[in-house]
Order: sequence, then structure tokens, then C-alpha cells
Amino acid sequence: MVVKATTVPARGVGKPDYSKEVSSGRERAGISLKYSQQLAGWGLSWTDIVAHPQVPAVPWVKPPLVPDAQAHLVDLATGVALPYTTPAGYAFTMVQKDWTCNEDIELWLYGSTPSEADGGSLVLIACPGISPSGDNVYVNPVYTYTSLTLDPTSAYSHSWDVVVVNRGTGDMEGGVVLAAIIEAVGTSPFPDTKQCQCPLCHHLQTVKVGTTVIVCDNCGETYYVQDFSKIREL
Ligand SMILES: [Zn+2]
Repeated sequence: MVVKATTVPARGVGKPDYSKEVSSGRERAGISLKYSQQLAGWGLSWTDIVAHPQVPAVPWVKPPLVPDAQAHLVDLATGVALPYTTPAGYAFTMVQKDWTCNEDIELWLYGSTPSEADGGSLVLIACPGISPSGDNVYVNPVYTYTSLTLDPTSAYSHSWDVVVVNRGTGDMEGGVVLAAIIEAVGTSPFPDTKQCQCPLCHHLQTVKVGTTVIVCDNCGETYYVQDFSKIREL
């Protein structure tokens, strides 16, 4: 047997090379979604920096919230105000809450009871947050609001609502975003259409999932929504 000696060119400097991973530093654990899971996002932004309504329109951008007023978060994928319904066979788990504003703010979470008898009444189940002065809060919690602790087999449909209240003395500017994972539990994958709502004339329109720019069938104006269906890792 002849053994040939060759020289292998030296590469690197003998330690990991992170030079191509400028985004590898993360302040939270990443989220990877399975085929059976989709991200959902609900939010609102209040401002007087633009005239309302903007055209093209953005459903979750609103004028400042006046003192003591309440507002329902808006589904970022459809422009429809909450409540949001997860059908039987789907589980709901909130994974992020984030807000910043310039007044005292309260957030209240309503969920439906898992009961056929009362059809799932919406009842107040938790306070996701209260911030005197509205300072920024960002949390991706481990113990969180999930249908799995109320209805472990996802046997029932559930409704969810998040109401924001301005408890300050002035008009509130700022924004709120909550994120949740919707998971199909022993049921078919997600539908390929969604029903969106025009923020200008409130017309409901069914579009393909994935659509983000919509020309309203009713008023002809354009508005924007978001698409969460392709997101697999964050
Ligand atoms: Zn319209």
C-alpha cells in the first residue's frame, strides 16, 4: 500500500466564524412553526401624525384614542376587529404582547367558556397588562393564555377579544401588538381563503390567504392587510 501525503489548505482561524450571521444575536428564543401551526397577529396604532382615514388604508391605524374610550384590537391578517374565533379542532396560544403609548393604558382579555350549553359566552379571563404612563412593555411569556388549559382536546370553538382602554387624561397615541399561535389539532389544515374588511366602507370581502393588498369590491379603494400563512420561523 502506498500512502501519499498531501497538504490540506488551512481555512478559518480555528474558531467559529460568525461573520455571516449578523442576526444570530437574539433577545428571545426563536419560534419555529410546524405545518399544523400558523401565527396570528392583532394590533392597533393610534396617531394624529396622518389624517384619517389614510388612502390607501391600513385597518389597524386609527386616530388617537380619547380618554376612557375602549377599542377592540384588529386582526392584522383581515382588518376585522376582534372578537376572533378559533373553530373546534384548533388551539390558541398567545406568544407575545407588546405595547407603547403616551397615556395610562389597560388591556383586558376576554375568552369564551368551553361550553355547549351557553354557546361559549365571552367572559373576562385575564389582564395582559396595565401600564401607567404607557411605557413600552414587551413580553413573550411561557405561562400564557391558551385554550389548551381550558379545553385540552380543542373540542369546542372559542372566541377571543382584547379590549384596550385609555385610562389617561389625554388623547392616547401609540400601539399594541399581540401575537398568537393557532394550531390545528387532529383536524384539516388551514383554509385557503380569508374574509377581510375594508377599513373605509366596512365591506367584507373573501380573498385568497396570502393576499396583502386588496382593492375593495364595494368602494374601489385600496387597503392593506398582513399575511402570516408563510411564516415558519421567527
Ligand atoms: Zn371599501
